[in-house]
Amino acid sequence: MSNDVIFWTQIASIVAFVFSVFGLYRLLVDQKDATIQLLKETVNTLKDQLAEARNSTPDVLAQSLSGRVKLLEGELERLSQDKNANQELVHRKEEELRATRQKAEELTKQVSLARELLNDFLCPHCGSALTAREFHSESVEYQGRELDVDHEYSEYECGYSVLDGKPHSPCASGQGRNASAITNA
Ligand SMILES: [Zn+2]
Repeated sequence: MSNDVIFWTQIASIVAFVFSVFGLYRLLVDQKDATIQLLKETVNTLKDQLAEARNSTPDVLAQSLSGRVKLLEGELERLSQDKNANQELVHRKEEELRATRQKAEELTKQVSLARELLNDFLCPHCGSALTAREFHSESVEYQGRELDVDHEYSEYECGYSVLDGKPHSPCASGQGRNASAITNA
């Protein structure tokens, strides 16, 4: 091989190398773009899911159902006033209305039940969470006999506490201050 040929072969391989590096670089950039795009899409999907979850609480569901009941009622009224309206259509709408109303009633029941259950764990004044609930019994002497007296103590995040069903310390929100006979205020 002449020196010329070696020289050009080297040049060619360097050029090929540069191109391949450039290609690799492009590939990486593309991949990076693709990864960023994928991440963006994932974030958007998660955002959508979050919004959906937020929108599908029982309260919101009940609201949308009651909205649907109203819509159907209006539609039904309009149809029954329209003398030419198809009887079958009116019937179908009535049926739909009944089913939706039933669903809404069931859901409302569930929501109020859940709320009742939850209320026991929230401050009645500001809605702060329960932080402690303790039960203890105490032996007291009453007319020469020993009696066990049970005590129940609940404490909430806001400072509100209840001892044996009576307010024991105030809620930080200041609400219900008059109602509670404060012992240590
Ligand atoms: Zn409170």
